[in-house]
Parts: sequence; structure tokens; C-alpha cells
Amino acid sequence: MKITKMHETKKNVISFEIFPPKKDEELKHIDRTLEQLCELKPDFISVTFGAGGSSNHNKTIELAKKIKEEYHVEPVVHLTCICYDRQEIELFSKKLQDEGIENILALRGDKNPNIPEKNDFRHADELISCLKQKGDFCIAGACYPECHPESSGRVEEMQYLKQKVAAGASVLLSQLFFDNRIYYSFAEDCQIAGIDVPVTPGIMPVINAASINRMVTMCGASVPVQLQKIMQKYGGNKEAMFDAGIAYSINQIIELLANDVDGIHLYTMNNPAVAKRICDGIKNFL
Ligand code: FAD
Repeated sequence: MKITKMHETKKNVISFEIFPPKKDEELKHIDRTLEQLCELKPDFISVTFGAGGSSNHNKTIELAKKIKEEYHVEPVVHLTCICYDRQEIELFSKKLQDEGIENILALRGDKNPNIPEKNDFRHADELISCLKQKGDFCIAGACYPECHPESSGRVEEMQYLKQKVAAGASVLLSQLFFDNRIYYSFAEDCQIAGIDVPVTPGIMPVINAASINRMVTMCGASVPVQLQKIMQKYGGNKEAMFDAGIAYSINQIIELLANDVDGIHLYTMNNPAVAKRICDGIKNFL
């Protein structure tokens, strides 16, 4: 089922994001991970895709297929374009069609000095236009409540986002953020810009202070003082940090749901225990 259809029929679309394990050893456990995640009945599970040059692209499709065929949950395949040419993207889209994949999160991908860029696709909107021509896909795009790190300003960013929607993105999934006020201000800007597709906030539970510090440096998300305090005080205590991080995310999600967001996209980090605690914590608010 296309994600757009889910939004037409459900008030809150709840989705999970997972990544294909890099090591074969971890891949062996993926069935147990998927089984536990799918028991929580997300509306869809999205599977990330390497920025380019890596060999785990086939794993993205394999995992998406598994999610669909063995666990009967709708998959969304992430697809990046900056390091691929048109022919490679067309082949990939053919493969997705052949596998019955209906939903794609179309991305530019991060620039990486170690991976040469090809010049066919400079931005996600060009990939979206190409995919729209190639098949009957539902295309999602990425959006950034705190602006993309390369952004030249909110006004330009909103123009480009509108361009992405005009090219055919019919759903937007957001980068992680920890301060709901930032999200509300972004959602308001989307409205002002006339962006009228569902915009789903992305939530990343902070269960490990060190990895979150790395993550926010990469994506530019700000960490509110109350979360900084939690990380300072409990960052060295695994169990306490886990509980505090889950509680923080549950509060964030309940408040977002109370403000009638279109859905929640949960960055699960392939951790079913995290997803289960969050789903248990929000089940009475859906
Ligand atoms: P774009 O939409 O091209 O935007 C990139 C920058 O260019 C922004 O500053 C934007 O304002 C600007 N811009 C956009 N369009 C134009 C235009 N036409 N002309 C000029 N400037 C423009 N990365 C991965 O490698 N694999 C993944 O699986 C993955 N999954 C993600 C999932 C989500 C929900 C999100 C939010 C991000 C994900 N990313 C992933 C990261 C993403 O690839 C990076 O953030 C990347 O740097 C930008 O991708 P984009 O599709 O947003 O690019």
C-alpha cells in the first residue's frame, strides 16, 4: 500500500526506520529484529541505503522484500542519487518495480569526498522527477526542521522543499529533532509555503549519549538544555540513560500527537527494545 493511502485512511501513521546491518554476523539476527519490530504493527518500515559506492544496496532491497513478504508490513526503500548516473538509477527503479516495492524515500545523499559524485542528479528533486516517470511509485522526500547543514537559509530551504513536492514527493519525513517548538515553527513555515502533503516528524530516542553527540554533530540538530542535563547526569549509566532517553522521546511524541501531527517516524536504530518501550508508552494516545 502506498504511504499516501495510509494517510488518507489513518489519523496517525506510525513508521519505523531500520538500516541493513553491515556485518554478516549482525545480518544473522535480522530476522529476530524484524519479528519483534513487526509485532508492534508499524504502518511501514523504511530501510536506509548507503550514500554510494558501498555494497550493501542489495541488502536494502533484500530487507525490504523480507519485510513485505515474510512479515506483511509495508516497506519503504531509501534511495540516494548523488553518486549514481541515470542508467544506474533507472536499473534500480526497475528492480524495485519488479520486486513490487511501491514506496521510495528519494534522497540526494550526503556528499562524501571519498566517493566520486556523478553529475546526473544534483538534488533530490531531480531524482524524484526521474522516479515519477519510471514507475507508479509513492515518493517520499526528506525535510529538515532545523534546516539542512548546507542550507543557505530557511527561505531558500522552503523554496527547494516546495520544488521537491512539485516534482512528485507526496509525503515528507523529517530529520530528527529534540525540541518540538522547532518542529511546530517548521510545520507552520511549510503551511505558509503552501506545502500541503503529510509531514511526519522523525524521532530519535537518546539511549546512548556518545552516539547522539556524534549524530547531532553530523546533522546539526540542537540539543535542548533539559536533554543536555539528562545526558550529563546519566550518560555514564547505561540503564538510567536508556530509561531517561525513552521517557524523553515518549513525552516528545505525546506532545506532537496532541498537536495533531500526521504521524511519527521512529528511528529505531535496529533496537526492538527501544521501539517496544516507545510503542507501549504512546499506545493510549494514538
Ligand atoms: P536535497 O533535497 O537535495 O537537499 C540538500 C541541500 O540542497 C539542502 O540544503 C537543500 O535546501 C538544497 N537543495 C535542495 N534542492 C535544491 C535545488 N534544486 N537547487 C539547489 N539547492 C537545493 N542518507 C543516506 O545516505 N541514506 C539514507 O538512507 C538516508 N536516509 C534519510 C532519511 C531521512 C528521513 C532523512 C531526513 C535523511 C536521510 N539521509 C540518508 C540523509 C540525506 O541523504 C542527507 O541529509 C543529504 O545531505 C541530503 O539529502 P536530501 O534528499 O535532503 O537532499
